[in-house]
Formats: sequence, C-alpha cells, structure tokens
Amino acid sequence: MTNVPTLTLNSGLEIPQLGYGVFKVPAEDAERAVSEALEIGYRHIDTAAIYGNEEGVGAAIAKSGVARNELFITTKLWNDRHDGDEPDKAIDESLTKLGLDFVDLYLVHWPTPAHDNYVHAWEKVVAIRDRGLTRSAGVSNHIVEYLERLEKEVGVLPAVNQIELHPLHQQRDTVAWCAERNLKIEAWGPLGQGKYDLTEIAGVSDAAARTGKSAAQVVLRWHLQKGNIVFPKSVRTERLQENINVFDFELTADEIATIDSADKGDEGRVSADPREVN
Ligand code: NAD
Repeated sequence: MTNVPTLTLNSGLEIPQLGYGVFKVPAEDAERAVSEALEIGYRHIDTAAIYGNEEGVGAAIAKSGVARNELFITTKLWNDRHDGDEPDKAIDESLTKLGLDFVDLYLVHWPTPAHDNYVHAWEKVVAIRDRGLTRSAGVSNHIVEYLERLEKEVGVLPAVNQIELHPLHQQRDTVAWCAERNLKIEAWGPLGQGKYDLTEIAGVSDAAARTGKSAAQVVLRWHLQKGNIVFPKSVRTERLQENINVFDFELTADEIATIDSADKGDEGRVSADPREVN
C-alpha cells in the first residue's frame, strides 16, 4: 500500500498530503468509490455538505474497518448556513450523515462576501473546533482581503485555505500570504477539473516522458513538491490508483520552474471567482 506523507498543520495535527475528493461523485456511487479509495490506500477524504454524498462516505468508512485515527475526514459548511446558530446545526447534520463523532477538518466553504457574514461563520467554526466536533478548523476560497479580516477581527488563523489551484491558476498572492503564516494550501481542482489538456502545459509532456509517468501524475507531483495538499477526484478505479502512485519519482527544479511559468493568473481560473459566489 502506498505510504502517503503527512504535513503538520498549524493546529499541530497531521494531514495526509494526498487524499480523495468527492465533488460530483453521485450519492449512489459514493459508497463504492470511497470504499475503493480506502482499499487502494487513501486515508484522507474531502467531502462537503453541498456534495450530497456524506452518507455514502460515512457508509464506506463504517464498512472499511480502517481505524478512525488513521483517517482524515474533511467536510464543509455551506453558504446558506453562515448566520446565527446555523453552523452548529449544519455540523451536527454532517456528523450524523457521516456517522462520526468528529471530523478532522471543518471548512467555511465560500466566503459569500456580499452577505458580509464570513467573519461570523469563521467564529462559529472555531467554536465548533473548541467543542471537539472538528479537530482542525479552516476556510476555503478565501483571498487575502478576507483572510486579513479573519486575522484582525477573530485573531485565530485557519489551519488551511482550500482554493482553486492548478498550473494555469496559481493564486500566488494568496499562497504567499498563507505561507508566511504557516497556513497550509489545499489545492482544489488540482488537475484543472479535467477542463484543459494537461499535456499542453509547458514542461508536463517532457517530464512525463522522462519519468515514464502520466501528465496527471506529473501535475500532482508538481503540487506535492510545492507543498500543496491535493485530493484529485475520479470515480474510475485505474485513475484512483494512478493518482496515488506519485511518490516514487521527483521532478527537477527546472521542471517545476517550467510548470510554474504556465500561470495565467485570473484568466486561468476554470471555476467560480470567490468574490462572485454569494
Ligand atoms: P480535479 O482537478 O480533481 O479534476 C477531476 C477531473 O480530472 C476528473 O473528473 C477527470 O475528468 C480528471 N482526472 C482525474 N484523474 C485523472 C487522471 N489520472 N488522468 C486524467 N484525468 C484525470 O477537480 P475537482 O474534483 O474539482 O477537485 C478535487 C476536489 O477538490 C473535489 O473532488 C473536492 O473534494 C474539492 N473541491 C473543492 C471546492 C471548494 O470550493 N472548496 C471546489 C471544487 C472541488
């Protein structure tokens, strides 16, 4: 079984640097897909209330026989539940669906800036952590402006910021801000959500030819060597295997730098702009 390395979060807890993300894994397929992933050796699962598949994830965990302390389970607070005590109800519902007493990481999914309630949502997620319902607390889709408000107004930094990040969209200012504070980056859409041809990224095909790996494996390796946490999604057994089989080779500094040069900034985004999700 592949041994996935862990990183240490600013909460002092360890997180497997590679996991399995289940966005768009249909509810009826989630139990099978997560069971396969656990069988293959994945121990970190990234879900969210809005994905509608927490029950399937929970069923797979329950049947797996894998010890709870070997698993790292993330779920997320959805956008319409930021206000008042809604976050308390939302975490209870997620835990019930997952069949767990606690998750390892609970995230504010999107800041929804037009509602100006992400500071409150963050305070609630920190309180949920303090009650032991999540071991670490974090955010997702937060740009520097929003992170600065959390730092100033709450005074507690998230353990992670989960953001869209792949070769065409590298979010360098947010990554730098987080790195200065030991706040880990989780890269969602690590393969560009399959929306562009990875072989067209400068350096990817050459590195794939040199190492005998696929373009997807080269891009995942680029993330890992940059310190990003990743959880590529697939429902296909062979791709689940391929995506975890990235710990037996290394990219050179030149190969990393060539892939770095593919960044197109805001133009390279393949999904929604966090300033516009409300
Ligand atoms: P991804 O970059 O992981 O892309 C998944 C797609 O890439 C697949 O559907 C498939 O088309 C392709 N793919 C997967 N493995 C491949 C391989 N080996 N070779 C070739 N193509 C391959 O995109 P994602 O699913 O959006 O992101 C990963 C995870 O991040 C999600 O499942 C979810 O857990 C999380 N996520 C979080 C947010 C957020 O707002 N916080 C948003 C999107 C995704």
